[in-house]
Amino acid sequence: MARVLSCLMAIALLAGCGGDDGYPLYDPTYSGGGQTTSCGTNAHDDGFGTCVCVTGYDWCSEDLSDTNCCAPAAETYGEIIVSYQGADDEGLQSIEDRLRPRGLFEAVASSYTNALAFPEDLYLMGGECGFVNALYTRANGSAAVLMCYDLYAFILNTFATRFEAADAQILADHTWAFVLLHELGHALIDIFDLPVVAAEEDAADSFSVVNLVAMGRADAAESAAAFWFLADDHQDLPEELADEHSLNRQRFYDILCLVYGSDPTTYASMGTQFPDMAGRLPRCEDEWESARTSWNELLAPHARP
Ligand SMILES: [Zn+2]
Repeated sequence: MARVLSCLMAIALLAGCGGDDGYPLYDPTYSGGGQTTSCGTNAHDDGFGTCVCVTGYDWCSEDLSDTNCCAPAAETYGEIIVSYQGADDEGLQSIEDRLRPRGLFEAVASSYTNALAFPEDLYLMGGECGFVNALYTRANGSAAVLMCYDLYAFILNTFATRFEAADAQILADHTWAFVLLHELGHALIDIFDLPVVAAEEDAADSFSVVNLVAMGRADAAESAAAFWFLADDHQDLPEELADEHSLNRQRFYDILCLVYGSDPTTYASMGTQFPDMAGRLPRCEDEWESARTSWNELLAPHARP
């Protein structure tokens, strides 16, 4: 103690402070001299048998072997929380009963929870809505994606008019996954306050396509495009033109363009399948690259460390 006091006096006299052993007072990197004490990984012996924090001057707990001594508090992040709300309607309940064990919600929740540093929880709910839609909303301050079984039933019926039951089921499952990622796109835009410089509905579609392609499931995006083609009533009513969503036929072409642009060689047949896209297809690679890099750059700062 006497030596410490003499050092303090030396500091006061601007004379520097180094003892016989060169001990620089309060140097947190110093670990020699005096009694040796075993400290936790975040602390070290101050040279006098006391553990001090590596990054500061707080003393450790008395349990010197505590490896959490001085450890910074672990970061906590929000997560995507899945729930199934059930349905009064028997047909809609049977949709939940079939979809639930397939685990789509859980797979999406787990992969995006692990990838992104959510500042809050996001609730992902399946349920009967009484209307045909899926939506992202903030109810009582909580961020939530609501996937309506009513919409799944509508999608399935739409495909069932043109396809065998088994195929219609697969196409509906694909489109359901596309819609889920579309709503997740809305959720991420809101939760991370991402800039959107054009129609957010189109941005949400592009998020869905980019992520499906990244998962190796471009076929799901193609199925969704087929859904919008079949769901189009070709009337172009004023209220449809005024809606924030692009027209169903435009969504069809926009999705196909991104899929084609992701791999023009694999999807080369699109040129003959959809001759009305001939003028646009040569530019689709740029559209794809722009969508892919934009989403990557927007979300990179929010990646989970
Ligand atoms: Zn939307």
